[in-house]
Amino acid sequence: MITLTSYLQDRWVSGTGRAATLVDPSTEAPVATASTEGLDFAAALHHARTVGGPALRALSFAERGALLKAMSRALHEKREELLDLSTLNNGATRGDGKFDVDGATGTLAAYARLGTSMGDARFLLDGEAEKLGGGARYVGQHLYLPRPGVAVHVNAFNFPAWGTFEKIAAAFLAGVPVVTKPATATALVAWRAVQIIVEAGILPPGVLSLVAGGAGDLLDHLGPQDALAFTGSADTAATLRRGAGVAARSARVNIEADSLNAAVFAPDVEVGGALWHAALRNLVTDLTQKTGQKCTAVRRILVPESMAGDLADALVAELSRVVVGNPAVDGVTMGPVATAGQLRDARRGIALLQEEADLLLGGADALDGVGAPAGKGYFVRPTLLRARDSATARQVHAHEVFGPCATLLPYDGSAATAAALVARGEGCLVSSVYAEGRDWLGPFLMEAAPWNGRVVAATDKVADQVLPPGMVLPNQVHGGPGRAGGGEELGGARGLAFYWNRTAIQSDLGALRALFGVK
Ligand code: NAP
Repeated sequence: MITLTSYLQDRWVSGTGRAATLVDPSTEAPVATASTEGLDFAAALHHARTVGGPALRALSFAERGALLKAMSRALHEKREELLDLSTLNNGATRGDGKFDVDGATGTLAAYARLGTSMGDARFLLDGEAEKLGGGARYVGQHLYLPRPGVAVHVNAFNFPAWGTFEKIAAAFLAGVPVVTKPATATALVAWRAVQIIVEAGILPPGVLSLVAGGAGDLLDHLGPQDALAFTGSADTAATLRRGAGVAARSARVNIEADSLNAAVFAPDVEVGGALWHAALRNLVTDLTQKTGQKCTAVRRILVPESMAGDLADALVAELSRVVVGNPAVDGVTMGPVATAGQLRDARRGIALLQEEADLLLGGADALDGVGAPAGKGYFVRPTLLRARDSATARQVHAHEVFGPCATLLPYDGSAATAAALVARGEGCLVSSVYAEGRDWLGPFLMEAAPWNGRVVAATDKVADQVLPPGMVLPNQVHGGPGRAGGGEELGGARGLAFYWNRTAIQSDLGALRALFGVK
């Protein structure tokens, strides 16, 4: 049994008291324990602010990028080990593990390249100097400077590698040290990944800390220049927003939360055509990848009534081929959900959706996974439902089943109706729309896009290239309005702004030229 330790003040430390037990979700066998009881988080944050912050801020963007590149390489060298841990503690198939682990190294590498392109600077000018007085000498210049604080990252259970390092990549490049906290139940991969980075001796002291276990009083110590980037459920997000660090001391906060993402078929999609097949591929990937435990997975499938039967048949045929079981066993194509709690929630959620939707495949019944001990493991069937009335249905637009489950919502084919149904989700991370032509697409996007952080708008011209909407890219924003948390991460350089303060300096142009390179 592995004992997870936390890395605070540049030392590995163990908590005391009762530890949480991490299990293999395919067998329920314990694999590790984690405790953070008694750890001094106030001192850890202080150390990061006072030792890690100055060290990072002294580096240029290119030098910070070089750190990210070295981190990416170090993790990639241990890829196989991390993939095995991902199967052990996340129930991930090899493909699911790669999505997480390669997502982490790929995002680090992308931000490393961005750092190289930003060169020798250590901060950025925002716009140009603007004249403030009668003459040319007195001007105002906006600057982006790294916040002299620490970024605390609190992550969800589903992406222990990517979630940890996509946030770290932006924070480090911006010049801000990080205390990262993975979800306890699946902390094994994040813990080992941080261990790999520490053992490789890449980072200056104080720059990276890990809390492996419960958050305890960590967030109570957030100060005015600190930032909290949270990924997880809307309920936890609401609690964290009320914490003193955020509510009273204005620590900056970014929330990535639940989302009822939609996939929309326009009426001009040809059944059986190239775009149809692209959509089908994406839907099956989204439903089954990581056993549907992706914040970006499609939950609602809007399809014109005339097409609904064909789509239901095609999806049922594809999803029926999925082999659910222990991903350590050959032939299994979808693993369990990550925890007993997730299993309970997924089953309850499916039952809730059945109040207003008919089951086409799957359902909430218990399932023994292939290659798993009888009665053990957190397995859920790929589940497809069809809403009885898309307009009056409520739960399907409000309740996220965090598992391999989606609901077909037949609609009348009009762009306005489709956009209105998307909006019923009250804010999504990403939606996808499949339309052969542009006439329907334009009005739909104008209405639906503001309800989404990202929209994959697949036309016949890109049917062969379009990526599954669940794939978050480092150079595109990730986040969404409303229910999705109202946050924004990544998006290349856009993701750095969260870690910077913008300050307008009003002074003499000569001084600003000499001090900050103002033009
Ligand atoms: P969760 O229960 O909200 O937990 C998320 C994180 O918050 C964990 O690290 C958890 O730590 C921590 N946490 C819980 N209570 C806390 C508190 N009072 N103070 C400080 N930290 C606290 O969510 P989850 O079950 O891990 O994740 C599932 C949800 O995340 C889904 O709803 C999904 O939609 C959402 N999600 C969103 C995104 C996105 O990018 N928008 C990505 C992935 C998942 P412990 O584990 O130690 O309790």
